[in-house]
Amino acid sequence: MLKIGVLALQGAVREHVNCLHAPDVEVKIVKRVEELEKLDGLVFPGGESTTMRRLVDKYGFFEPLRQFSEAGKPIFGTCAGLILMAEDIKDETQSHLQLMDMEVQRNAFGRQRESFETKISVKDVGVDVEAVFIRAPLITGVGKEVEILSEFEGEIVAARQNHLLACSFHPELTEDARFHQYFVQMVRESKEAAADSMALT
Ligand code: GLN
Repeated sequence: MLKIGVLALQGAVREHVNCLHAPDVEVKIVKRVEELEKLDGLVFPGGESTTMRRLVDKYGFFEPLRQFSEAGKPIFGTCAGLILMAEDIKDETQSHLQLMDMEVQRNAFGRQRESFETKISVKDVGVDVEAVFIRAPLITGVGKEVEILSEFEGEIVAARQNHLLACSFHPELTEDARFHQYFVQMVRESKEAAADSMALT
């Protein structure tokens, strides 16, 4: 069984839980640091990144989450979750977990387009993936380790860096579970690779 957690400090938790279901997946809601221990993968939901960061610090998650990533365990951040993962946040002095080599801009669509729904093409996921954008960030720069998975109107909205996956929109608010299933497959492969390397030692 794969164990995949959803960080439940704030934001759209329940919707992610529903999208992660697969016959070989057990989904866990994570509220305490100890609950990270047995997980094979983790989702950072959308919400409000400044509030989420405050709660990450308050409940002692900062270092444990960095260690989770350093151990090579897959993490999937959506919207505010993507902001938590970014190395840099445009026009802000403080970024958060700095897991992924990218710069992001918060609320990048401005007031005119605070929230909208569209279909986009996502590499290895589909050409007509449903995407809900809500006061969404954009990825404004990526390092060379980062693979761009999707662009919308010429701007980067989804990317992957090895075991790290991030998107600016909310796949969990649609009926379309393909993006989550892509992440579940990343977790499967990462667990298999870890088991293979154990077998070799
Ligand atoms: N604008 C929010 C932030 O900066 C993110 C919005 C979202 O997660 N839907 O944290």
